[in-house]
Order: sequence, then structure tokens, then C-alpha cells
Amino acid sequence: MDSVQDLAQYLKKAKYTVVLTGAGISTESGIPDFRSTSGYYGNVLASDALSASVQDGDPQRFYKEGYQIFKDLEGKEPNRAHEAIVRLQEAGLVHEVITQNIDHLHEKAGTKDVLAVHGDAATIHCQSCSFTGDFQVMDEKVQQGEIPPRCPQCGGTLRTDVVLFGDAMPPAFDRAMAAVERADTLLVVGSSLQVMPVAYLPRYVPNLLIINMDDTPYDMISKVKIQRKAGEVFTELLEVLGV
Ligand code: NAD
Repeated sequence: MDSVQDLAQYLKKAKYTVVLTGAGISTESGIPDFRSTSGYYGNVLASDALSASVQDGDPQRFYKEGYQIFKDLEGKEPNRAHEAIVRLQEAGLVHEVITQNIDHLHEKAGTKDVLAVHGDAATIHCQSCSFTGDFQVMDEKVQQGEIPPRCPQCGGTLRTDVVLFGDAMPPAFDRAMAAVERADTLLVVGSSLQVMPVAYLPRYVPNLLIINMDDTPYDMISKVKIQRKAGEVFTELLEVLGV
């Protein structure tokens, strides 16, 4: 089994390192992932309802079933893995951060310019005009039974900035592609690497390093695979690197 020392060696040698995170980095902040046994697919109803067609075609169902996943993110705080990534950036060992997560925890920890390829549940926009705002603006309306929630500016329909099933990928995805093309090293943290098109990204990078509790389709070609909790791996990694 690969060690934290192996991981540290690759990071020290790397010229340009990109981190790609998934739901597994946030489980230690109390947010379930999708594909562990205790994850949201245990709650099939909710994940099934997280589509643009349900949001627009059956808003009552969307706000009853899928929306709870966004509500559950409220009050959650970054954990030591998110914080360690900030330290690694400050030390010049991580150059860009791509996340599939919608929980805003990298930003809350202090990472700037996060490439949130599945969007962000902390912010909202109007589907008809240029209005944007915080999740709370929309949530107040939803809690008062205003479904779908209406734009305070034009009366159009509000929605979160999350990329739902059926939505196009946002510009952040093109920037993520450019980042991995520049990189010689990709550190994947807490992702099953099964969700397309993000799961294509590891193909473009020579040195693939993975921290994930379960198997991924890329384990065979990874240079380092550590099958332990991200929080403890990052704590040890900072010690080994002395940052
Ligand atoms: P996934 O659920 O498919 O896989 C998560 C992986 O993380 C699993 O393989 C699991 O073994 C691993 N894991 C769980 N806890 C871990 C830990 N403490 N340390 C290391 N590994 C751990 O997640 P995914 O690949 O990100 O794909 C799921 C999709 O669902 C993404 O698109 C994401 O946007 C969305 N999602 C986001 C959140 C969030 O924002 N926090 C939560 C659930 C789902």
C-alpha cells in the first residue's frame, strides 16, 4: 500500500499540481456523499429529483424532495482536509483547485478562485433577468411556501447556481480542462471518479495521486493510491512536508 511519504515525494517533485475534490472530502464536515453506502443514493428520491426537468416541470416535487440536499449544507464548516489544501496552496505546492462539490467549503476555508464544475449551492440567480444573490434570499421564499420562488426584480423564477442533471456544464469546466492540461500532477480527493464528464479529467495528467476510501476506475494507473480518510491523510501530509 502506498504511503503519505510517497504522496509527499510526488508533490515536492511536481511542477504544476491541480487538486480535484469530490463529495468524500466533505463527509468529515457532516455532509453525506453520493456513493458510499450511507450516502445520498441511500436516499434515491432526493438525488433523482435533482434534475433541471423536475425543477422546471414539477417544482412542487423538486422543492419537496431534491431541495433538502441544499438545505442540509447550511451551517456546515470546512474540515482539516479543506484547510490543508489552503496550506499547500500557500506553500506553493498546489496551483489550482477543481471541485465537484456544491457546498462552498473550499471557499469557506480560504481557497480563492475554486473551479466549481458542478456549481455552488451558496448562490442563486434568476432564470429571466440578471438578478443574483445568496441562497438565503431564495430560501426565505421557499420556507414561506413560494414555490417556485420568484425574482424580487422581475418576477422570473429563481434557482441555485448548482449544475443539475440535464444542465449544460458551466465555463468553470472549460477552465478545469485547461488546468489539467497544464498540470503534470493531479491529486484526486474523495471522488469515486464515476461522474462524467469530470471523470475524464484524470486521463490528461501524467502523475495521478488518489486519496479515496473506496476503489476508483483509475486506481490501476495512479502513481499513489491511499485508501484512508482524507482528514487524517492531510494532517500527516502537512507534517511530512513541514508546511
Ligand atoms: P461520490 O459520492 O461518487 O464518491 C465519493 C467518494 O469519496 C467515495 O468513493 C467514498 O469512498 C469517498 N470518501 C467518503 N468519505 C471519505 C473520506 N473521509 N476520505 C476519503 N474518501 C472518502 O462523489 P463524487 O465523485 O464527488 O460524485 C458525486 C456527485 O455528487 C458530485 O457531482 C458532487 O457534486 C455531488 N455531491 C456533492 C456533495 C457536496 O457538495 N458535499 C455531496 C454529495 C454529492
